[in-house]
Amino acid sequence: MKEVVIIGAGVSGLSTGALLSNEGISVKIFEKSSKVGGRTTSMAYRNHILDNGFHIMPFYKTSAVYQVLEKIGITSRLKLALVSDISFFKDKKFFKYPKGIADILKLSIVPFSSRIKLLRILAPMAFSSMKKAEELDDKSLTEITNKLDSNTKSFFDAVCMLAFADTPEHVSLGEFVRTMIRANPFKGGTSEFAYPDEGGYDKICEKLSDFIIEKNNQVKLNSSIKKIVIKDNKVKGVLNNQGEFIKADSVVVTYPAYIAVKQLFDENVFDQEFLSKVEKLNKTTSVVETHFCTSEKIDDKQIVFPMSEKYTSKGIFFISNMTDKVSPPGEHLLMAGTPVPSEYTENPEKIKEISKKMREEIAEIYPNFEKSLLWERPMAWKLVEAVVKEPGMVWKQKMPHEIKNIKGLYFVGDSTVSYGIGTDSAAHSSLLCHPKIMKQMETEQENFILN
Ligand SMILES: Cc1cc2nc3c(=O)[nH]c(=O)nc-3n(C[C@H](O)[C@H](O)[C@H](O)COP(=O)(O)OP(=O)(O)OC[C@H]3O[C@@H](n4cnc5c(N)ncnc54)[C@H](O)[C@@H]3O)c2cc1C
Repeated sequence: MKEVVIIGAGVSGLSTGALLSNEGISVKIFEKSSKVGGRTTSMAYRNHILDNGFHIMPFYKTSAVYQVLEKIGITSRLKLALVSDISFFKDKKFFKYPKGIADILKLSIVPFSSRIKLLRILAPMAFSSMKKAEELDDKSLTEITNKLDSNTKSFFDAVCMLAFADTPEHVSLGEFVRTMIRANPFKGGTSEFAYPDEGGYDKICEKLSDFIIEKNNQVKLNSSIKKIVIKDNKVKGVLNNQGEFIKADSVVVTYPAYIAVKQLFDENVFDQEFLSKVEKLNKTTSVVETHFCTSEKIDDKQIVFPMSEKYTSKGIFFISNMTDKVSPPGEHLLMAGTPVPSEYTENPEKIKEISKKMREEIAEIYPNFEKSLLWERPMAWKLVEAVVKEPGMVWKQKMPHEIKNIKGLYFVGDSTVSYGIGTDSAAHSSLLCHPKIMKQMETEQENFILN
């Protein structure tokens, strides 16, 4: 029986493992951590479920994550809560987030003339094609936003925050257009978001892992892989941290490719040109996010985007309003977040300073906040997405799934060829890579029978 080894039990590793398990392939997943989930992991804290930073599933039922669950027939196991009550906050007032192109006309946060301007820009994008979007992958979204008035510009800032957790300077126009197409209801898309109803974004990974185990395959936790063994340009297996050799016909690497190529291979496996190309992808998004727990529900909304240069908080996420299962009765969880330069994430004073500023801003928007605050927990993440959505670093410009000249070696995850953000792109890479692994399995099986 052909064996596939997968290194990492995050969204991409488990999606790939589940898709292969569904086709009867023998799969072994090795995860160095004690839990599945990778970057989507969660933790228990004071009887709450705290996500590893704010996580939300973009595009809901049209997302790649949902497609994976559909393909393996387990959508009914993951109850999803719809996240659709989203507002902007500006000049002491809340404004509804537009759910589709038509809602732009009702977008009272910008003057009517700007709404028409916005519609003229966004409608052609939303009705464009994926092929046309690819032609814009090298261009920056700022080519468009730089020509806009400040109101319309700040609307783009909020959309980028929701769709990319980043600012327009870091977003490729091609990726933005793909997002518009995928959000267009006239093209079967949706701008709805979702969050696991049981609480904890890692519920997605848990369901995938359960499915893999039910298919008699393995998800081994606390198991770190040290090296991929390659001989005569063909993968032979992996060595774990105890130095044991595990035979495999294919090995799938799931953590950022620019890190993996330095850690898992002998020096001469890749040429310098390839390594420099992969290293160029080594640009990530970093954030500071603070969980706040209150004794009172300070708002019914699910997400609020403060819209003004003066605010450090770029998003306020009311997790308990997505599902009350994240907190014990009578307590409410919310989170504020902002993108930061990566060096800030290593500076505890800076993290505290940013967190304090976000707390003051929430108190300014919600007068009841301070008196109901029970505790707060600031955190920072250096690696949010493995590749920023900058021009020249999106979709097919990312790390390829297969390497020429090395048979049986595959790369998936958000640093590899895929579109969308975060978990959506991680799952998309698995959907794209899985047929390639299947093809290798089938060809080798045919050769085995013929010989
Ligand atoms: C704060 C924050 C907020 C985010 N918000 C969102 C959001 O709202 N929506 C969204 O879609 N995405 C979001 N993301 C991004 C999303 O979490 C990632 O894009 C996605 O989880 C990446 O999945 P992956 O499988 O590609 O990689 P990972 O999750 O990084 O998985 C790789 C796995 O490999 C394991 N591993 C590494 N080395 C080894 C080894 N040698 N041996 C064995 N195992 C190994 C790691 O432990 C890890 O579990 C956010 C991320 C962060 C940090």
